[in-house]
Amino acid sequence: MSKIAMKTPLVEMDGDEMTRIVWQQIKDILLLPYIDLKTEYYDLGLEYRNETNDQVTIDSANATKKYGVAVKCATITPNAARMTEYNLKEMWKSPNATIRAILDGTVFRTPIIVKGIPPYVQKWKKPISIARHAYGDIYKSTELRVPGGSKAEIVVTAPDGTETRALIHDFKTDGIVQGMHNIDKSIEGFARSCFDYALDTGMDLWFSSKDTISKTYDHRFKDIFADIFENEYKERFEKAGIEYFYTLIDDAVARVIRSEGGFIWACKNYDGDVMSDMVSNAYGSLAMMTSVLVSPDGIYEYEAAHGTVQRHYYDYLKGVPARINPVATIFAWTGALKKRGELDDIPELSAFAEKLEKACIDTIESGVMTKDLCIISELENKTQVDTEGFLKAIASRL
Ligand code: NAP
Ligand code: MG
Repeated sequence: MSKIAMKTPLVEMDGDEMTRIVWQQIKDILLLPYIDLKTEYYDLGLEYRNETNDQVTIDSANATKKYGVAVKCATITPNAARMTEYNLKEMWKSPNATIRAILDGTVFRTPIIVKGIPPYVQKWKKPISIARHAYGDIYKSTELRVPGGSKAEIVVTAPDGTETRALIHDFKTDGIVQGMHNIDKSIEGFARSCFDYALDTGMDLWFSSKDTISKTYDHRFKDIFADIFENEYKERFEKAGIEYFYTLIDDAVARVIRSEGGFIWACKNYDGDVMSDMVSNAYGSLAMMTSVLVSPDGIYEYEAAHGTVQRHYYDYLKGVPARINPVATIFAWTGALKKRGELDDIPELSAFAEKLEKACIDTIESGVMTKDLCIISELENKTQVDTEGFLKAIASRL
């Protein structure tokens, strides 16, 4: 059998611990036998990040800008314990934060749904993708405690020195105050990423905020989305047969719970933080959640939503074979390969990725699965396999 050829390399970002082991297994068992895989390889494993003073992370993000599509393995975000474990020179920043700062953009999280693992919300039949704005608001705010008798104001100093003042509160007794901001350009990027992703996936887009209470701040988000939609996307949405609408966050929450799924829910930074945890838990498994960073200029970085599965890695080092669920990592690869196939006009590559996704789902629905799913699956006949056994079962279906 001849292998599928590629034109442009994928940016491959290797990672840490259990997911690094499984990364190689996925390539060996599911990709290399079928694809003449072209990648530009960056080792984002913590040891090499430390050796290069984290330059490798920056280089991988710049390569992603150059080529347009990346696939990333989960990586360790160092904390105090990792400083000693890996003898680090510095507590390096989270690679995801570094990459996001260079590419800018929005993170979309989508569950992979299979028969036998029903969501906790019974009406949900299709996935709900959460799009979280990843800049500003309370994550870049300034806060103070205020003693009673103080007056708190907002002061904005214009380039010419003129000051605009607005009273926050006249404190009779002790209290607290917070100042936060966002930037039109970042909100515009967020909006475009969401509209592009909706066109890409053929799903409706919902956007929610609290503009009835926040009449200037949240209203600005609503207006920017509306303007960009009217001027740049409306016709394309009509052609694609999909819909965009804005609604209050309270109404959105009610509609989401009553819906069948199958749409993208765009949220402001805090709402997205909270709602993505709620939605992903309601779908049943972190190991079945994919994640993609989409930049405003159409650059894509695919990964699994879970981490490096540290606990299992220590078992693995003691000789226990890998048992983790590789599905979200496989879908990171298929997402990236599909996108590369689409951009380079290689339909066989996209078709292969589709078939691989289907083989994963069919394998689980036939009852063959890793332990994490076996515990929650409602299927009657189940066979529990380790990671390699599962990958081989997928390969035989493929
Ligand atoms: P984790 O890797 O997400 O794993 C937490 C627990 O979830 C595991 O112990 C396991 O539960 C379960 N789990 C997650 N993924 C699984 C899979 N594919 N198959 C089976 N079970 C799975 O989080 P962590 O162990 O707290 O974090 C480890 C490292 O990952 C940290 O250094 C953190 O910085 C990093 N991290 C990276 C990313 C990223 O790169 N995007 C994201 C999150 C965390 P059981 O133990 O019950 O089996
Ligand atoms: Mg959170």
